Amino acid sequence: VSAPVVGVDVGGTKVLAGVVSPDGRVTRRALAGTPGRRVPASLVEDALVAVVGEVADGLTPAAVGVAAAGFVDAGGERVMFAPHLPWAGEEVRSVLARRLGCAVVLENDATCAAVAEAEHGVARGARSAVVVTLGTGIGGAVLLEGRAWRGAHGMAGEFGHMQVVPDGRPCECGRVGCWEQYCSGHALVRYVQDRLAESTSPLAVTGRQDPGRITGPAVTAAAAAGDPLALAAFASVGSWLGLGLANLVAALDPDLLVVGGGVSDAGDLLLAPARARLAASLAGGDRTTREGAPVRAVPALLAAGLGPEAGLVGAAVLARRV
Ligand SMILES: [Zn+2]
Repeated sequence: VSAPVVGVDVGGTKVLAGVVSPDGRVTRRALAGTPGRRVPASLVEDALVAVVGEVADGLTPAAVGVAAAGFVDAGGERVMFAPHLPWAGEEVRSVLARRLGCAVVLENDATCAAVAEAEHGVARGARSAVVVTLGTGIGGAVLLEGRAWRGAHGMAGEFGHMQVVPDGRPCECGRVGCWEQYCSGHALVRYVQDRLAESTSPLAVTGRQDPGRITGPAVTAAAAAGDPLALAAFASVGSWLGLGLANLVAALDPDLLVVGGGVSDAGDLLLAPARARLAASLAGGDRTTREGAPVRAVPALLAAGLGPEAGLVGAAVLARRV
């Protein structure tokens, strides 16, 4: 029995570990709740060590990759800031390497998800890609030749806090008008909540009875069933998605755009309005020559292929490289 390579995704609500095979399959899993934000950082590390021990089944792992929902420094040593975790500059990588007794790689979760798509998912073989992960907020990464561009300080790909509306909605980051305030799971739910009183759709009736039942998956299910309010929410979020992607395409001209995260489970309910707004927002994107050919190529926009385990799979891919 060879020592396993383990990926761990440390999110705001759960810590998910998996043994990942060289071809990207998750063969064993373990899950724990995230202890919270206002707790000692060591409690999150305890939870992580426990789930790794559970999946490794008594073996010391060959290497462990950690995908953290936060800003990871350029050296991959510390989590500088994480809105839902207690880490604020802690030397997470070296602490975990000591406790786990093996090599540990630390990387931002959206970057890990993008690496997984490049290695085993829909971005395989693409020379360049922009990957956007729509969850509670927006995570992202820029892939070049299958590798994530980390930026000078490790902060590349934080697309969620690009300002798209001057004087717009306040954001958790302390600024206003950030893209994720209009394009995220949170934005999808809020779109519905803001219209419960005025809409006669079945989803609005449900929401007036019990606002707690308006969740991202509930809006997705309602949209798939043709609920007008849910479809309008996806039209809005999809349109904002296309607008932000057009800005990224203007800056980077990638081969491919990939959208993952829970909101992308809606497929074309999200991607169709996004593709339309992308083409219309990109200079030349909606123009054709006299012969009818497009003036400029609009990159393909695809749903991510690896689902909610992409973060831990990508973390394991990075761990396997050390
Ligand atoms: Zn922000």
